[in-house]
Amino acid sequence: MTGTIYVVGFGPGHEEHLTGRARNALVASDTIIGYNTYIDLIRPLLTGQEIVRTGMTEEVSRAQKAVQLAEEGHQVAVISSGDAGVYGMAGLVYEVLVSRGWQSGDHPNVEVIPGISAIQSCASLLGAPVMHDACTISLSDHLTPWEVIAKRIEAAAAADFVIALYNPKSGRRTRQIVETQRILLEHRDPNTPVGIVKSAYRKGEQVVRTTLVDMLEHDIGMLTTVLIGNSQTFFHGPLMITPRGYERKYTLDTVTQRLRPGERLHVENEPWSLAATAPKASRSTPPISETPSPTHRQEPSNRSTLTARDWADAALARIAGLRPSTAEATARAAGGAIGSVATIPAQTRQAAMFEVAVSPGVANKRITTEQLLLLAEIAGETGSVEYTPAHQLILRARTLDAAALVGRLEAVGLVVQPVGEVVRVKACDFCDGDKAEGIPYAEEIHRRLAGLGVEKELRIGFNGCAMSCYGAVHEDIGIVFRKGKVDLFLGGKTTGRNAMPAQRVAEAIPAEVVPDLLERIVQRYRAEAFPNERFHKFFQRVGVLEGYAHKDAPAAVVADGVCGT
Ligand code: SF4
Repeated sequence: MTGTIYVVGFGPGHEEHLTGRARNALVASDTIIGYNTYIDLIRPLLTGQEIVRTGMTEEVSRAQKAVQLAEEGHQVAVISSGDAGVYGMAGLVYEVLVSRGWQSGDHPNVEVIPGISAIQSCASLLGAPVMHDACTISLSDHLTPWEVIAKRIEAAAAADFVIALYNPKSGRRTRQIVETQRILLEHRDPNTPVGIVKSAYRKGEQVVRTTLVDMLEHDIGMLTTVLIGNSQTFFHGPLMITPRGYERKYTLDTVTQRLRPGERLHVENEPWSLAATAPKASRSTPPISETPSPTHRQEPSNRSTLTARDWADAALARIAGLRPSTAEATARAAGGAIGSVATIPAQTRQAAMFEVAVSPGVANKRITTEQLLLLAEIAGETGSVEYTPAHQLILRARTLDAAALVGRLEAVGLVVQPVGEVVRVKACDFCDGDKAEGIPYAEEIHRRLAGLGVEKELRIGFNGCAMSCYGAVHEDIGIVFRKGKVDLFLGGKTTGRNAMPAQRVAEAIPAEVVPDLLERIVQRYRAEAFPNERFHKFFQRVGVLEGYAHKDAPAAVVADGVCGT
């Protein structure tokens, strides 16, 4: 039997917003693959299909499973909320197929079934904010570097797009939305209308109307989409509305319009158009290959309206860190000509926000006054210091010289580590040094492994005695030091509703061999983990690490199937 993969966008979540084609595809499938919460959302529509449900961030595993089953001849529905082709599973399914040499038309068949994306469902709840050019920007920097995201925000803000912010904030990703507001306020009026929609058309739906300057006063989280209006957007009572154009070419209180349809395209009625602003001698647009680069083009002659090219140049200049001078801004306001990128005089390159994890030591938990004062000085007015469960402080500060900043921190005895998807080594305080025998081993493990880049953050916990009061066994890898020997725990699931401790895979390993042993385990994880695969999943998949076998945890008794909220 020919296998098929239906990549189904099921919309916001309410059954009434599911398309007929999506419903038919679910019925025609023998297997449904999806994220736990999404499976629960479509559960009323299921008719006995086999369910493959996985956690968040396991999209690659879901796509691989779908391809494997479809190659065996199954009819598989891979479900995404919203639209499967907008931040959904469609691209990933194709990526997995392409990596296996699949061509369009080959077995298995693939059908991408569209759904209603969040920008549409949230817009309908707010009124009509997406009536003009709009863009979506995900603030999640898990798969996209923040520098790239920030450039997109900057460009969209400068070009006056209505902007839908997806994934604006999560429990651990909090500063992106703050930084986004800062960038937007450089380009938009503080009173720009903003709509904040949580769980559109689902249980717990919330709709908030606010302004750009006040948006952070409201609850924003994983289930929220934030819609930023453009310069023309307005509130009318509870409705957020964006006009269709920048200049009234239609009147709403008469039947006979000021401009007949054909006249709308006349140059005099479109003072901003390329045709209206092109040099008189040459109205035709040169072929793209002959279009002069911004640095070589002629400066536009004095005229009252800026061309689209001028706006684009200004946006590009901002992205490149070049900012127009005050004099130039004044000239713009007066309707004067602006220079090309090369002639913009002020180069006030902004300091980047730098982020590092610092701690007073592996076993030492006491921060000195000198260290605290230095952290406060470096953070200053615009930075921050955040305490984390990993016994570290996350320092965020603006700087143009990250190396010098790290040097200052290390000079006062602070241990500096990168943030993000790295190995973290968290030890107890060894009873304030009274049980110091294990400290050299903890420090050696820290020296070798802490800060190494991995697919997903890998936490190694180290307890200095069998009392285990610092909970090392709840980490990805746990070490319990006992009189020169070590008990080893592997594969803890540190977060999520089915979090569980690691498995005790060995007892009384000589402590001297443990740093080498851990290094081999971590290096194998670094080399062989799938994208975004957490260590406990990796251990489960490979089955054996350094001779230690994975054992499945006993299944929990399910008293209530509802989850994910
Ligand atoms: S785990 Fe043991 S050595 Fe470490 S702080 Fe607790 S009691 Fe002290």
